[in-house]
Amino acid sequence: MRQRAVKIIEILEETYPDAKTTLDASSPWELLCGAILASQCTDERVNKITPQLFATYPSISAMAEAELSDIEELIRSCGIYRNKARGLKGSAREILDKYDGEVPQSREQLMALPGVGRKIANLILGDAFGEQAVVVDTHCARISKLLGLTSEKDPLKVERDLEKVLPATSYTDWGHYMVFHGREICKARCRQCVACPLNQLCAYGRKQDLEAKEVGDCV
Ligand code: SF4
Repeated sequence: MRQRAVKIIEILEETYPDAKTTLDASSPWELLCGAILASQCTDERVNKITPQLFATYPSISAMAEAELSDIEELIRSCGIYRNKARGLKGSAREILDKYDGEVPQSREQLMALPGVGRKIANLILGDAFGEQAVVVDTHCARISKLLGLTSEKDPLKVERDLEKVLPATSYTDWGHYMVFHGREICKARCRQCVACPLNQLCAYGRKQDLEAKEVGDCV
């Protein structure tokens, strides 16, 4: 399984050489805000909201002091905005009070912030602090299962399975590859297995009669 996973990574590296987070952010705090806002929302929409949000509240202390209703107004279009506003303001408050205004760098501390779960904590560890952490979002869970690298549904169990088969140096990249692959080829509603460079290494792809299909067919 490890060898197959390594081969899959090699192909994904070639296919998506620029794979990285698609949230626009210039600091760990901005990335944390973007990740909180991205829950059940697209990164594209979040990137439309954050320039105004960060211009209005340019620091963690400004966000901590903001009126909740004003934050809500700015982020309304990204859905579940009341919860997200509480996450932004509450996280800012805690970071100021407990961590001297610096986004904490441990998973446990990150997960203790309002509005931050394991997925967001792993994203911050990987993309803001250069650590290795598998971000299991819907793309990652779905495609890793199709590839045959896990049979689990629960994100934590998926993460544990992936940690066993992926090289530790690829944990963070794996999350990015899964997002890019899920958007471009292995789409939830139309898997493009014929055109997929992983089809000979993929548990699902290998079971399909791809020769009977054409490029562009949903499989
Ligand atoms: S072969 Fe099909 S199911 Fe497997 S990763 Fe590629 S598109 Fe997804």
